[in-house]
Amino acid sequence: MTTSSRVHNFCAGPCTLPVPVLEEVRDELLDFDGTGMSIIEGSHRAAAYDTVHMDALADFRSLAAIPDDFAILFLQGGASLQFAQVPMNLLAEGQTAGYLNTGAWGGKALGDAVKVAPVYEAWSGAGEAFMRMPAADEIEVRGDSTYLHVTTNETIGGIRLPDLPSVDVPLVSDMSSDFLSRAIDWDVHDLAYGGAQKNLGPAGLTVVVVRRDRLSGHGRNLASYLDYATHEANDSMANTPPMFAIYVMGKVLRWMQAEGGLGEFERRAAERASLVYGAIDGSDGWYTCPVDVASRSHMNIVFRLPDEDLEKRFAAEAADAGMVNLKGHRSVGGIRASVYNAMPVASVETLVDFMGSFRAANG
Ligand code: PMP
Repeated sequence: MTTSSRVHNFCAGPCTLPVPVLEEVRDELLDFDGTGMSIIEGSHRAAAYDTVHMDALADFRSLAAIPDDFAILFLQGGASLQFAQVPMNLLAEGQTAGYLNTGAWGGKALGDAVKVAPVYEAWSGAGEAFMRMPAADEIEVRGDSTYLHVTTNETIGGIRLPDLPSVDVPLVSDMSSDFLSRAIDWDVHDLAYGGAQKNLGPAGLTVVVVRRDRLSGHGRNLASYLDYATHEANDSMANTPPMFAIYVMGKVLRWMQAEGGLGEFERRAAERASLVYGAIDGSDGWYTCPVDVASRSHMNIVFRLPDEDLEKRFAAEAADAGMVNLKGHRSVGGIRASVYNAMPVASVETLVDFMGSFRAANG
C-alpha cells in the first residue's frame, strides 16, 4: 500500500489521520525507540511510555494554550461517558445546570445529565429541526445554574456555534467534533471535553480539560474511576490508560504544532468549508444546505440533492472515484462531508470538482 492508493476519506469519525503520523507509527511498530517492542506491548509504567504520556499532556496544554489552573485528563468511555461524568463531578446534590439542546449530541448530553442531577433545557432547536444554534439572548440560563452545557459542533446536524455564547455562568463544552480546530477561550470555561477520534487521533481516548478548583466540590461518593480527582492526582495513570490512542494523538499534536498551530488549523478549516459551501451555493439550488448560514459547521458539511435516488448515486459514484464515507448520518439522510484537521484541502478540491461534474451529468 502506497500513500497514492489512499482514498479521500470524508468519514465523520473515526476519520482520516495525517499521513506523516501514520508513517511514523508504522515505522515504530516493531521497535519503538530501541526497546525491541512496540509502545503497546510494554507496561504503562515503563519509562518509554511515561515519556510518551507526559509529552502528550504537555503538548496538548501548549497547543491549546491551557492555563495551569486547568487539569488535562486522558479518559476512556468516549464523550458519551462525559454526559454523566460531568454532572457527577461538577454538581453537588441539588445543584443545577442548563443545557443547550442543539441536536443529536446536545440532546443526548441533556438526557444523561438529567439522570444524575436536576438539570434543565436552556434552549431547544427541536422546533426548527435543529437547523441553527441559538443567539445568546435566546438562551434562558437560570441564576442558580452551576454551568451551561453547550455542544460547540453538532456532528450529525452540521451546525456549529460560530462564537461561544456570552452568559453569566461558566461554560461546559462538548467539543468532540471541533476540538483543537480553533482557539478556545478558557476564561469562560469550567470544562471542555471531546473524543479524540475526529480531530486528534484514534478512538478510545477522551480528553477532559477541567478547572482544578472544580474537582473537589461535588461531595458525592463516586467510584474512583468516575471521580475526576482520581485522574488528576495520578496524571491520568491511575489505571491503564488507552496507550495507543494517547501515543498516536501525541504525534498528531506535534504534527499540528509543526504545521502552524491552532490558528493555521482554523484558517484551513475555513478554507475547506468555503470551498464546499461555495459549490453548494453556486449550484443554482441543485445542491442545498438545510443549515442556517450563520451556523454552518466547518467540520461536518451537510447537503441535499434534488432527490434521494440522486443522493445514493452521488455517494456511490464518489466512492468509485476514491471519495468515501459521504453518506449522511442514517438519522437524517442526505450527504455529509466531514472535513477535520487532517483533511487535505486538495481532497476537498477533488470533491468540489466531482460535485460539478455530477451535477453537469445529472442536472
Ligand atoms: N458528542 C459529539 C459532538 C459527537 O460527535 C460524538 C460522537 N460522534 C459524541 C459526543 C459521542 O462520542 P463517543 O462516541 O466518543 O462516545
